[in-house]
Amino acid sequence: MDWTSYGYGGQQKQDWYDQAQICKNGHLINSAMKEYPESNKKFCPKCGKETICTCENCGSAIQGELHMEGVANFGEITIPSFCKDCGKEFPWTKAKLEAAVELLMEDEELLAEDIANFENNIHDALTENPRTTLAATRVGKVIKKTSKFIGDGVRDIIVDVLSETAKKTIWPS
Ligand SMILES: [Zn+2]
Ligand SMILES: [Zn+2]
Repeated sequence: MDWTSYGYGGQQKQDWYDQAQICKNGHLINSAMKEYPESNKKFCPKCGKETICTCENCGSAIQGELHMEGVANFGEITIPSFCKDCGKEFPWTKAKLEAAVELLMEDEELLAEDIANFENNIHDALTENPRTTLAATRVGKVIKKTSKFIGDGVRDIIVDVLSETAKKTIWPS
């Protein structure tokens, strides 16, 4: 059987990416806005935040799920941390980093320079780049210095946005 032409009369339909709708806190609302517009929502049912489907910096569409002819979708996508068209962090990424810094500030034992060290390095720990391991090592040192309670809280906030390398560097299992 010739699979390339089977069922399509020799015409291949092109794969295409749908547009995603995500709340500003990072909850996925709809991974296929164009295919299933009835699932679009103005506000997030989980947290009440406004939803967005384009980058607020450059206006480009947030990439949704890939539609492939003959392949079923499960409505799951990885929530992107940065806009693929301008490189700016999405609001949920920013919100998580800010919340992590504020939580560290709750630790009165921590020095201002520790907080600054965390803030200055956390961005490089989000992506795979030449400085990931260095940045993650510095971030990990600050997390180690803080109490277990705050350290665990920081982990819960940032673990989803960290790169794989950073996760392994900060919390080697
Ligand atoms: Zn939400
Ligand atoms: Zn953008």
